[in-house]
Amino acid sequence: MSISLVSSLLRHQCLAVFTHIRPDGDALGSQVGCCLWLQQHGVSAIAFNEDPSPHNLEWLQSYFPVQKPSKEAIDRCDGILFLDGNHPDRFGKLAEYATTLGKPLYLIDHHPSPVDIYADRHWSLSTSSTAQLVYDLYLETGIEKITPEAAIALYTGMVTDTGSFRFDSVSPSTHLAVADLLARGHFKPNIVHEQLYDQRSPAQFALLGMALGTMKFFADGRIGIICVTQEMFQKTGTVYGDTEAFVSYPMSTKGVEAAVIFIEYEGRIKLSFRSKSKLDVNLWARQFEGGGHAKAAGGWTEAPLDEAIDRVLKVGMASL
Ligand code: 5GP
Ligand code: MN
Repeated sequence: MSISLVSSLLRHQCLAVFTHIRPDGDALGSQVGCCLWLQQHGVSAIAFNEDPSPHNLEWLQSYFPVQKPSKEAIDRCDGILFLDGNHPDRFGKLAEYATTLGKPLYLIDHHPSPVDIYADRHWSLSTSSTAQLVYDLYLETGIEKITPEAAIALYTGMVTDTGSFRFDSVSPSTHLAVADLLARGHFKPNIVHEQLYDQRSPAQFALLGMALGTMKFFADGRIGIICVTQEMFQKTGTVYGDTEAFVSYPMSTKGVEAAVIFIEYEGRIKLSFRSKSKLDVNLWARQFEGGGHAKAAGGWTEAPLDEAIDRVLKVGMASL
């Protein structure tokens, strides 16, 4: 871990802390944990996100509030810290504005290949989650100072980005960090898991039922897909956020090596890719205006659903 990054961050009066749009558990968990760390070391922090928290993560905001960014609020900060994304366009329009002000820019992230606007102030490591990197910040400056709220927030980031500790990004260091967070935070895992995963509505299951009906398999069952259309959202009264984890159904089918979910969203199709083989979905997603990790990535296409499926499968099957 970079000691110079820690000392540079802690020299600021006020940091604007951004995480990626459509935030997930690691985005919000690492953001809340990091803002609490900054505050504890005398640096004011403002947590920004252009999108609202998903319902099952709203409770994290009782530990540290996350607000919609405004130019005025960004102007009050003397540095900008980006968490859990490797490209400025992952953080929204006002984050892009923040990069134009000549203020120091920092990045803490676990995605491959951060773009170079972050100069030498990035700390980008391939590890389970950004939350695990924020845990290392606490280690660097005295882990005994971590509060239960920060420990729970970082645990949330780690559990969500690792699929409850089952992905190959999980290492012994992940479990050591989690053991330490449980001990120091004095909480039981079920408190977090119930808030995260036991919050589904009947409407969400109605949507899941329709989506499961679209599951199809290609390349001798090595690639699975699932689709969610606008019509399904309308019929069930659900929204994009209600599709969380749907891609795990084709993914958990025997013989499947990679899966894609196609979601009609805001006039385009949002793609989420998952892999449990050598097929690198980061490279796959990069062909579709996106990116991510080798095992989990996202992208977009403007094509109508049938055509989108054809195009996406063509690239995926060529990479098998
Ligand atoms: P999800 O499929 O859960 O939305 O995202 C999985 C991973 O893919 C995330 O870790 C995120 O980093 C990445 N990802 C998702 N959507 C996008 C996108 O639109 N652009 C890029 N570059 N990465 C994405
Ligand atoms: Mn992450």
